[in-house]
Formats: sequence, structure tokens, C-alpha cells
Amino acid sequence: THDIHVIGGGLAGSEAAWQLAEAGFKVRLSEMRGSGENTPAHHTDHLAELVCSNSFRSDDAESNAVGLLHQEMRALGSLILRTGDTHRVPAGSALAVDRDGFSAGVTAVLEAHPNVTIVRERVDVLPEGPAIIATGPLTAPALSDSIAAETGRDSLAFFDAIAPIVHRDSIDMDVAWAQSRWNKGDGTDYINCPLDKEQYHAFVQALLDGEKTEYKEWENVPYFEGCMPIEVMASRGPETLRFGPMKGVGLDVPSTGRWPYAAVQLRQDNAQGTLWNIVGFQTKLKHAEQVRIFRTIPGLENAEFARLGGLHRNTFLRSPELLDGTLRLASRPNIRFAGQITGCEGYVESAAIGLLAGRFAAAELAGRHLPSPPRETALGALLSHITGEAVAETYQPMNVNFGLFPPIEGKTKKADRKRMYTDRGRAALAGWLAA
Ligand code: FAD
Repeated sequence: THDIHVIGGGLAGSEAAWQLAEAGFKVRLSEMRGSGENTPAHHTDHLAELVCSNSFRSDDAESNAVGLLHQEMRALGSLILRTGDTHRVPAGSALAVDRDGFSAGVTAVLEAHPNVTIVRERVDVLPEGPAIIATGPLTAPALSDSIAAETGRDSLAFFDAIAPIVHRDSIDMDVAWAQSRWNKGDGTDYINCPLDKEQYHAFVQALLDGEKTEYKEWENVPYFEGCMPIEVMASRGPETLRFGPMKGVGLDVPSTGRWPYAAVQLRQDNAQGTLWNIVGFQTKLKHAEQVRIFRTIPGLENAEFARLGGLHRNTFLRSPELLDGTLRLASRPNIRFAGQITGCEGYVESAAIGLLAGRFAAAELAGRHLPSPPRETALGALLSHITGEAVAETYQPMNVNFGLFPPIEGKTKKADRKRMYTDRGRAALAGWLAA
């Protein structure tokens, strides 16, 4: 017997289950991985597996919206943030984690919790009793059919792309060098590969000419800007990459002391520092083409790839018109949605919406009403975007950003504005917590 059923043990479902369990409610947490099922992107049976990058992005709570979200989640006892902090790896001002240590840590905590029962099973229909659906962008088809039947609308699908990962000992460090852009952090959080003008333009041409995998099912479906394949970016113009993921500014080539014409950056992907992912290089090039083309990058001539890039489905609801202000399905209020399936985008955002869904559900089970966090907070800004502020017709997955917050009134210097958002957010959260 359980008080509430959480379906999907990813970032959002794990956080929701934790919040409910900590509030004293019995949770059945259903996760299909571990029962012989898998998604096209997961590789393990761990809960809260990170399917691509190992970064929770900026941890700067003074001038960055996702950094502020981290801070708010820590204040609300987030399991995902707490475990992320424990398994942190160096990444300048970002919070990056050892991926296996992190998800194994989340799994162990929930397995040990007396109020949580983890059941390895695939759920195919929406349950009758109180439930949180947190099955993510790769929700198994039978359940997405069941959701579509209930909502009366088809979920939308579009591409998401993952970047390749390289073994550290296969990088030629006589050519590549360790340095963070502008020497932020301890200066060794990134490995950089320099390209001169000729090499850069040849590389861009190779991306354009390279053989791509076709995904007929999803033709004409738009990309999310933050996860656009490198070759799609290259097709926008010869200089696009040089002002995007391949920019050379703030990096000093050791032999010349000058910025390179262009650069490829790799970021540490595991605690031991043996695996590094190529930043911004998500791609739908065929695997053999990836190996051939990425080995033309100076320093990566002999690169061994631990994982190659790829593309995946992303399913999400038109939440602004389907969900109420506490993430309940308006047509069936015993069911809440959480995580990327609500149309937030990113690990941290997914966990944040899981945290809120868990807290709203816990309050309801206790016969109380939990007011939504104020819109001046990162949690409140993200929640109100998903549940009403966004335009339903053009709804697309969204990272947390200051554009979701109510604007700062009056004349302000641009340099001060971020700080004003975060100061105002902290004050608003404190008021909400006190109430
Ligand atoms: P998930 O973490 O996917 O969790 C959903 C869980 O539900 C899974 O464990 C799944 O096995 C389970 N499940 C699905 N259907 C059923 C069912 N019917 N019954 C039982 N269990 C079920 N975000 C970033 O911040 N950085 C990135 O680099 C990044 N890369 C991404 C790459 C890809 C290919 C994709 C698809 C997404 C990526 N995202 C990334 C976006 C997003 O942050 C992640 O998808 C994140 O894991 C979403 O969290 P979630 O909890 O909503 O879903």
C-alpha cells in the first residue's frame, strides 16, 4: 500500500519521491529500467541517470538564473542537488558531477528510505489514485498513448542531440592544452584544441559534407536551440561555429601565447578525469563519419571515443493549457506531471519541477494548500512559465533564465541587473519559506 504513485525514476521522479517520503508519505516509485526495458538514451539501471552532459551548469547564484535555482533547491532540501554536491568534479564556476557516482548515490538513498518502495516495472496506463508522472522526454510509447488519450492532444516530439565523449589518454597534449576560458576556475577544467584559419574552414566543410543519419519520423520537427547539432549550426554560415562552441577568445595557445583562430573544448566527464566530452558537439553525423571528421581536429588525431554523438526523441505536453498552477492535469486533478515532460528543459529544471510536484502533492495529501513560490524566485518563474505564462501554441522546452522573471522596474545599469534579479529572488524565497 502506498499514498502516492510516482512513475519514472529519473531526475524529476527521484526528487519528487524524496520530497514526499521526507514529508512522511509512502511512495511507490515505478521505474522501467531494470525490468528489461530501456530508453534510447539511458545506459544503466540507476535512478537519476544523466543521459548526456555531466553538468548542472552555472553554480553562480549571484548572476545566473540556474545558479539561483541551485541555491533555492538546496534551501528546500533537494536530493538531486545534495547528491550533486557530494559528487562534484572540477568545472570552473559550473556544477559538474561524476555521473556514475551521482546516480548511484541517488539510487542508494532512495533504496534505503523507509517510505519509498522502488518497483522495476513499466507502467502503461495513467493510474486511478494520486500520482506524479515523471517519465521524461523518452516516455515509453504505451504510456504516452494513454496520456494523449486523456489530454485529447498529441504530445509533441522533436530532436535532442548528444555530444561525443573522448578518452583522456588518447588526446595529444603536445597540441592540446588545459585551460579554462579567461582562466576562470583553477585553470585546468577544460582541454582545448587549437585550429588555424585553414583548419577551421576545412573542418566546417567536412561537417557540411559528412554523411548524416536520417530520421524520417521526425522530419520538419524543430530543434531546441540549446541542443542543436553541430552540423546544423555549421550550415547557418561559415563563421557561426567560430562565434559559438568553437570560439577561440580567452584561450592562450601555449606556443604563441595568443588566442587561436578557433578552438574545440573538452570538459571533464567523470571523477577520475579519464573521460572528456566535446563541448557543444552534439551531432547526427553517422558514427563512422564522426570518428573520421573529429580526428581531423588538432590534438584529437588519435582520439578514442567512449561514446559517439546521437539524436533522440523528446516528448512533452502543451502544459500551459493542460496543467493547473500546481502541475495537476486540469481534466484529472489526482494526476500531476513533473520533469521534462512538462516542457521544462534540463537536468536541474526537471529536478526542480519534480521537487515542486512532490511538495504540492505532499501538501494536498496532508489536507493543506501550498501557495506557489513567488514569480520572483527561479522556482516560481519556471513554474509559472510552464503552467500558464508561456504561449501554448508555440510552446517549446525552456531552460530557466531571467527572461522568465518579472522585469526589474525602473532604470538600471545592465551590469547590476542580474544581481538585482538574484537579490530580489532570495528575498522572495525567504518570505515564502517564512509563510
Ligand atoms: P528522465 O531523467 O528521462 O527520467 C524519466 C524516467 O522514466 C526514465 O528513467 C525512464 O526509464 C522512465 N520511464 C519512461 N517511461 C516509463 C514508463 N512507462 N514506466 C516506467 N518508467 C518509465 N539536459 C541537460 O541539462 N543537459 C544535457 O546534456 C541533456 N542532454 C539530453 C540528451 C538527450 C538525448 C535527452 C533526451 C535529454 C537531454 N537533456 C539534457 C534534457 C533533460 O534534462 C533530461 O532528459 C532529463 O533526464 C529529464 O529528466 P526527467 O526526470 O524529466 O526524465
